[in-house]
Amino acid sequence: MAQNIIVKSRIRLSDFDPAEDFGLRKEKTRAATHRLLERIGGLQAKLYANTRRAVLVVMQGMDAAGKDGAAKSLLEFVNPAGVEVTDFKAPSSEELSHDFLWRVHHAVPRYGRIGVFNRSHYEDVLVVRVMKLAGKEVWAPRFEQINRFELNLHQAGYVQLKFYLHISREEQAERLRARLADPSKNWKFEGADLDMRERWPEFMTAYEEAINRCSPKHARWHIIPADKKWVRDHLIAQQVCAAMEEMELAWPKPREDLSKYRVK
Ligand code: ATP
Ligand code: MG
Repeated sequence: MAQNIIVKSRIRLSDFDPAEDFGLRKEKTRAATHRLLERIGGLQAKLYANTRRAVLVVMQGMDAAGKDGAAKSLLEFVNPAGVEVTDFKAPSSEELSHDFLWRVHHAVPRYGRIGVFNRSHYEDVLVVRVMKLAGKEVWAPRFEQINRFELNLHQAGYVQLKFYLHISREEQAERLRARLADPSKNWKFEGADLDMRERWPEFMTAYEEAINRCSPKHARWHIIPADKKWVRDHLIAQQVCAAMEEMELAWPKPREDLSKYRVK
C-alpha cells in the first residue's frame, strides 16, 4: 500500500488523489499511528546516542498543505532535545548574498538528531521559478546542484525523507477560508497566498519536475495524500519509522570495561 507513494520512476501528480485513504479506517489508523510514533520516539533515543548518523525530513507543499501539522504529529513522542526544526521563509538579504544552499546546509541537523525542514532548498526551484524571482538560467541548474548536495549528505550519514503534501485546490480553499474566518488562524493568512493559489497549475508543473528530477534512491520523494490529516500523519509515521528501523541503530558500546565499577 505505502509502496506507491514512494517516487521511484517518473510520476504525474494528477495521477495521485489528494483525498486517497487506501480504504483505511480512521479510528484504527489513528491508533496505529500512535504506536508508530511511540516507536519513532524509541528509535530517536538510540539515534541520539549515535554520533555518525542523522535523519533529515523535508516537508513541502502548497500553503495550508499541513507541513506544520505533519511535523507536530511526527515529533509527538520524540525528545525535543534530539530534534531540530527549521522553517524556511523568504531569504533575508544576508541569505540572498550567498549561494542558495548556504542557509540550507547551515540548518542541516547535527549527528544524532532528527531534523525537519518546513519548506526547504526546493523553494529555490518552486516559488523562485513560478513567481519569477530569478531567471531560468539561475533555477534550472539547481536540480543538479540539489542532487549533488543530497548525495553529499547521504555519504555523510544522513537518512533523507522528502514528503510532498499533496492537497487539492478545493481543500486549500477551505483551509484558507478558515484562516480568514477564525481569529486564532488570522495570523497565518497572507495576501500573497492568493497570488500563489492563482498559479496552482504552474506550481504543480514545478513540483512535478522537482520530484521527477530529484528522487534518487538515497533521498526519495514521497507523495502524501494530504486532504485527510489522519492519512497524512499515518503515512509519514510509517515511512519515517521504517527508515529509522532500517538504520539498525544500536546503543553505543561502553568505552571501557564497566564490570570493574560498583555504585555504593
Ligand atoms: P503555511 O503552509 O502554514 O502557510 P508557510 O510555510 O507558507 O506556512 P509562511 O511564513 O506563510 O509559512 O510563508 C513562508 C514563505 O516563504 C512562503 O511563501 C515561501 O514560498 C517563501 N519562501 C521560502 N523559501 C523561499 C525562497 N528560497 N525564496 C523565496 N521565497 C521563499
Ligand atoms: Mg503560508
